[in-house]
Amino acid sequence: MNLRYLLVLILFGFTACSSDQDKHATSTPTSTVAEAYASERPIALVLHGGAGAIQKEFMSDSLEQAYLHILDSTITLGHESLQNGVPAIDVVCEVIMVLENSPLFNAGRGAVFTHEETNELDASIMDGATQNAGAIAGVHRIKNPILLAKAVMEQSEHVMLAGQGAEEFAVTLGMDLIDPAYFRVEARLESLRRVKAKEGQQASNYDPYIKDSKFGTVGCVALDKTGNIVAGTSTGGMTNKRWNRIGDAPIIGAGTYANSAVCGVSSTGWGEYFIRAVVAYDIAALIDYKGLSLEEAARLVIHEKVPALGGDGGVVALDKLGRITMQFNTAGMYRAGIDGEGVKTVAIYE
Ligand code: ASP
Repeated sequence: MNLRYLLVLILFGFTACSSDQDKHATSTPTSTVAEAYASERPIALVLHGGAGAIQKEFMSDSLEQAYLHILDSTITLGHESLQNGVPAIDVVCEVIMVLENSPLFNAGRGAVFTHEETNELDASIMDGATQNAGAIAGVHRIKNPILLAKAVMEQSEHVMLAGQGAEEFAVTLGMDLIDPAYFRVEARLESLRRVKAKEGQQASNYDPYIKDSKFGTVGCVALDKTGNIVAGTSTGGMTNKRWNRIGDAPIIGAGTYANSAVCGVSSTGWGEYFIRAVVAYDIAALIDYKGLSLEEAARLVIHEKVPALGGDGGVVALDKLGRITMQFNTAGMYRAGIDGEGVKTVAIYE
């Protein structure tokens, strides 16, 4: 049993007993019990930096260390914020902004390139307390797309804005539009050129550039001290995408979902399949309607339902008790989490 809950139960039992035995003595005010309960509520945080054909043999030691370092430092940073009482909505943005600002991930700076050698960014966020949500798709000049998704949620009457209109909305809020050259990372451009050169050819299982060309999104789910769950996801999408293709990351219910009474989920993988399988919501629905545990629901969707359609990828998710799960059906997924009991995981491969 979760130790925090055991503590709460003991405290609750002790308070109830003493007021029973001594009805005329001063009883512990309910607010004190409530405060004790609130202060013992679990907090938890989980993040991903994309799933794909991430194999140790294709990774240099220094790159592996760089990934492990940023995963570890970012999960620690976000968890400290939760401990300090920062709301889940702000922690999710804080974590995702760190990953968007790193060229190591396919989100913000470091986003993959479209067929036309541009970067088109998608992001979404959902607040599990209100079930309010915001999303943007296909923006070129927003430094931190997750902040614009949050602004759509909080400051517009809409859920999803796209392209130039989304950027015009950002300007009305006083957000800066940046030079698209900021997003340009040479290694990503090389990946695009390699993918284009091999277009039409069968990708080898051992070619990490081709196999990884569709992965690398970032995402985060947080459970804060008030019991609220927030999930967010941000991506550059898939290398070589065309025709303003939009994946699952900005689609509420596919790439991102949160309901504080159930769970929060952020997805990464082959977006077309994650949209068709309504991955994030399906996990929540399996828990809510069918009584599956978080782990069982995420396993079922990622290891059975998505592959049955032909897709691959993974999710990170947590529930209201602070349990976390990180499921993927690819060779690896950049991931980190600290669950409700304070157990930390930082990992890349299976
Ligand atoms: N799901 C993203 C998309 O399809 C890609 C990824 O997760 O890496 O756009």
